[in-house]
Amino acid sequence: MYLRKLPSFRHTLAFRLTLWYAGIFTISSCVAFLLFYMLITSVIGQRTDQELVDQVGQFSTLLAVRGIETVKRVAVLEAQAAGVKKIFFRLLSRDGQAFSSSNMSYWKDIGIRRVAIERLLSGSSHVFETIVIPERKHKVRILYSIIGPGIILQLGQSMENYSRFIEAFKRIFIPTMAFLIVLAAVVGWFMARRALSGVEAVTRTARNISGGALEKRVPVKTRGDEIDRLAITFNQMLDRIQTLVTGIKEMGDNIAHDLRSPITRIRGIAEVTLTTGKSVGEYENMAASTIEECDRLLDMINTMLMISETEAGVDKLVREEMDIAELVRNVCELFEPTAEDKGVTMNCDVPEKCPLIGDIRMIQRMLANLLDNAIKYTPAAGTVSVSVCKNEGQKVVVSVKDTGIGISPSDLPHIFERFFRCDQSRSQTGIGLGLSLARAIVQAHGGDIAVTSSPNEGSTFTVTLPNSSPSGS
Ligand code: ADP
Repeated sequence: MYLRKLPSFRHTLAFRLTLWYAGIFTISSCVAFLLFYMLITSVIGQRTDQELVDQVGQFSTLLAVRGIETVKRVAVLEAQAAGVKKIFFRLLSRDGQAFSSSNMSYWKDIGIRRVAIERLLSGSSHVFETIVIPERKHKVRILYSIIGPGIILQLGQSMENYSRFIEAFKRIFIPTMAFLIVLAAVVGWFMARRALSGVEAVTRTARNISGGALEKRVPVKTRGDEIDRLAITFNQMLDRIQTLVTGIKEMGDNIAHDLRSPITRIRGIAEVTLTTGKSVGEYENMAASTIEECDRLLDMINTMLMISETEAGVDKLVREEMDIAELVRNVCELFEPTAEDKGVTMNCDVPEKCPLIGDIRMIQRMLANLLDNAIKYTPAAGTVSVSVCKNEGQKVVVSVKDTGIGISPSDLPHIFERFFRCDQSRSQTGIGLGLSLARAIVQAHGGDIAVTSSPNEGSTFTVTLPNSSPSGS
């Protein structure tokens, strides 16, 4: 069971972070210990050498003051006092021959190095040497030095203290290092787990969501670190996905609902004609009604496709230079007869010229939708006013104002949603897609559409389009 889990565990980020943490900790501890070791050994080595030099100095003075016989005696006595296994003295002539020494029974393996004597004679004040005696535990440090005319002192000292220190150091160092590495791995593991707990929460939530729980969110702590930012971004993405999914579902429901009515009507007409209709005229009426209903369906499907395409991106637009003043004048002229038929007065306050870059067909469609609504939802004797101007930011502002039935404050936030229709406008023809398309077109041009309205007083739709004319005028 555990063995099977191990390979996947080895690939976890927590395991790799722990490994890195413990690895870096081990390397830095080893480097620190090594530096400490080198420093301590060098200090101990220097102290040993200094002791030897000091002793040589004393013998030099003794020779000068008391003569060689006293030096010979003191050497024997000093070696006895320190312990014959600790130190030895040997007096040599210039040709390297020993003429006196302390008890050398323990040091008989140590000879006299010709090279050291030669170096002394060629001018060196002290010559040091370290000797390893195979069957002995401790090394021996030896100093050759001239203490008087033609007299060389060979002074040897066991490096027992030095070796003891190294051994003690190793005894402490190895278990301490092992303990610290284990501690670093444990601490590293906990730290990595703690740091990655947020990522695990995101993973858990993502797993729940893939199981269908779209309303789940990652808990956000108040640390404000990278994991919190990941959780916030992830939650925002989920909000967006949820809105989209709900939107798609609602749109599906709406499409089903809006398709059902015309199809039911087509079926009804066909059924009635089939059961009761006898004359060619009745069949002709059925065909005409069917064509009318089909046109309505096609119009709805085409408008929906257009909204989707426009919302998909600006690339779909065919941008060209145009005069929006002229475009608005033309659309007003087109709707003039409809307004007249309804007894609605139309005012068109448009400047001589107003250049703009945009998709003419799309902007025409957007203006037509706004004007169509304004006339449709304004009773007889009302007024529809269209104006074009530039605001302080030199953006083109097109406004369509009517004195119609208006929109209630509760409906106002929803009128740009697909298939949304206010209750009081149900008596009018329409499918509730005109404003969705208008908004999609305006947004694809980088502009904005806003509405203000009061029930029974009228509505004003204001479209602001960025003035991207080449002259910027
Ligand atoms: P419709 O095909 O129903 O006109 P729209 O998307 O163009 O669909 O408009 C959505 C709803 O907004 C309309 O059903 C209507 O209730 C409301 N509306 C739009 N324009 C106006 C207006 N000028 N005055 C009053 N209500 C309006």
